[in-house]
Parts: sequence; structure tokens; C-alpha cells
Amino acid sequence: MVCKSTDEDMFGPEIPEAPEIPRDVPAKRPEIKVSKRKYEIVWFNVATFTYAHLAALYGLYLGLTAAKWETIIFSVILYSMAMIGVTAGAHRLWSHKAFKAKLPLQIILMLFNSVAFQYTAYHWVREHRLHHKYSDTDADPINAHRGFFYAHVGWLLVRKHPDVKKAGPTIDMSDLDANPVVKFQKDYAIPFCGTICFLLPTLIPVYCWGESLNVAWHVAVFRYIANLNVMFLVNSAAHLWGYRPYDHTMLPAENLSVALASFGEGFHNYHHTFPWDYKAAEFGNNRLNFTTAFIDFFAKIGWAYDLKSVSDEMIEARKKRTGGGPNFPWMEHGEKITEHAKDR
Ligand SMILES: [Zn+2]
Ligand SMILES: [Zn+2]
Repeated sequence: MVCKSTDEDMFGPEIPEAPEIPRDVPAKRPEIKVSKRKYEIVWFNVATFTYAHLAALYGLYLGLTAAKWETIIFSVILYSMAMIGVTAGAHRLWSHKAFKAKLPLQIILMLFNSVAFQYTAYHWVREHRLHHKYSDTDADPINAHRGFFYAHVGWLLVRKHPDVKKAGPTIDMSDLDANPVVKFQKDYAIPFCGTICFLLPTLIPVYCWGESLNVAWHVAVFRYIANLNVMFLVNSAAHLWGYRPYDHTMLPAENLSVALASFGEGFHNYHHTFPWDYKAAEFGNNRLNFTTAFIDFFAKIGWAYDLKSVSDEMIEARKKRTGGGPNFPWMEHGEKITEHAKDR
């Protein structure tokens, strides 16, 4: 069943009224404004990220030249699990409550999310709710006004901006404080996620099909860093480049390359305009939005329910009010998943 939300402010930024602009002309990106700040570098994080990226490059080389085919297939499966654990789990389910999940699906998503090890889902959600509430301001941990590198990874290499520290405690986390699945992952963060993300993915290839320890470890690090960077692109590339058909006053944009790489998280102008939509996109088109296909599958077997979406009327009204030019030409004629969802 699909619940059409009418609460425009839920978990989304408040967007000021904007004058209507012609729909056939792509809107210019809003002006990049940045206030001066002193960066306090966290050298431990710089060292960890530097090592991990160098090891990942070596892992890519080993993956291409020395790894057994079983290791490659295993890594692709783990990569997909990690991606879904972030997109369907930490993002659409836990950050935005865009659908509800029964216990078995919550456990699956928590395990998948642990493969991604972007610290824990709990921490991820807190940062993400801040990101939406104060989008592209200094209280947004990932303020894209500070440029591609800062929004991509730089924000993790420096101490938090004072505005982020001030805004952090204002985020309501009571739903996840009461969620035993998320709480378990939070309580055992390093040993549990470390085992699921690195230890088992290294030991399984060694013991099950005789992969060398050196190859297994470095390929696991490559898979981890690849997943991390694709998710980072949602914060960097999809906040800087693309169409803004729903709201031209914000930085987030519809970015097809990011959408493809991130299993459907690159329709970011739509997502920041209507953050509670479980599709994180106006159109279904599951070839481009594997996360939506995943949630739809579990909705079919009843483990996902109360999928929230947005009415066509609300989308059209918003486009008229703040829309900034066209979408991808073929997206204008895209398949609306809501049409199918209505039948369930
Ligand atoms: Zn964003
Ligand atoms: Zn979001």
C-alpha cells in the first residue's frame, strides 16, 4: 500500500517562495556562497583515508591481475549488499522513514549496512538528518558550498564546524534510540561492523576457495573504498551538477551518472524537495533505481509496508512554484512507479 504524504516539511528543508522561470531553459546553479572558516585537520583521519585509498588502488590492481574469479564475484555481491544497506537501510528507511520494515528486513538491512561500515546506521542517520535540515549551510556537515572535495570527503578530514556541533543535539533520534536492531549495531560498532566489513570478507576467500591473504585483504579494501566513494558522490557531484526541475533555489541536482552508480540515489533535486518518497525519485524506472526495486520486492512479500510517495498534483504544483527548467528529456516520459504501487 502506498501512503501519499501531504506533509511537505517532514524531514525536508524549508524552501522559500521563488519566482516562476521558463521550464524549457535549464536553471543555472544557485550562486556558491561560502563564509571563511579555519579548518582544523584531523590527521588520524587523513592517515587512515590515505592508507585505505592506496591499499584500494593496490586491491584494484590485484583484482585485475591476480584474484580468483570467486573472489571477484564475492566482492560484487558484497558491494551490492553494502550499497543497499546504505540506500534502502540507513537512508530511505532509517533517516527518512519513507517506508516501514518488519524485523527480518530490518536485520537484513542492518547486516548489509555493516558491510558498508560507514560507521553505524545511527551515526549516519544523525548526520543525514542534519544534512537535510540545514542543507548547504554551515550547520550541514557536508556543506557543498565549500566545493567538491569538501562535500566529497574533506568534511571527514577536519573538525566539525561550530554550527554543526550546535545543531547536532537538535536532531530527534528517539525513533532509533528505541530501535533494538539499530541500537545493537551502534553498541557493537567497531567489533561487529569490522568483522562483517573486513574480517569475514578477507577470511572467507582464504578458507573457502584458497585465495591468498594479500589478495583477499586488498580486494576487500578496494570494495569498501569503491562503495564509500560512490556514496560520497551523492554529496559532492549530485549537489553541484545536474538538472533542477523541482527546485532551482537549492544545490542538489538530478545527476544520472550518480544515480546509476549509487543504485538510484542521484535524483537529488527531487529527493531534497520530497525527502519522504521511498523511491527518492519521481519516476520508478527500476533499471536506474535498484534500491526502489529492492524495496518493491520486499513490499510484495509484506516485509516492507506503508511505502510513502508524493501525489502527481503535489509534484506539479511544486514544479510550477520553484521548478528550474527541464528534467532529462526521457525522464519527462518516465514510468511512474506510483501507478503500479496504487494497485498493491
Ligand atoms: Zn544531499
Ligand atoms: Zn536523504
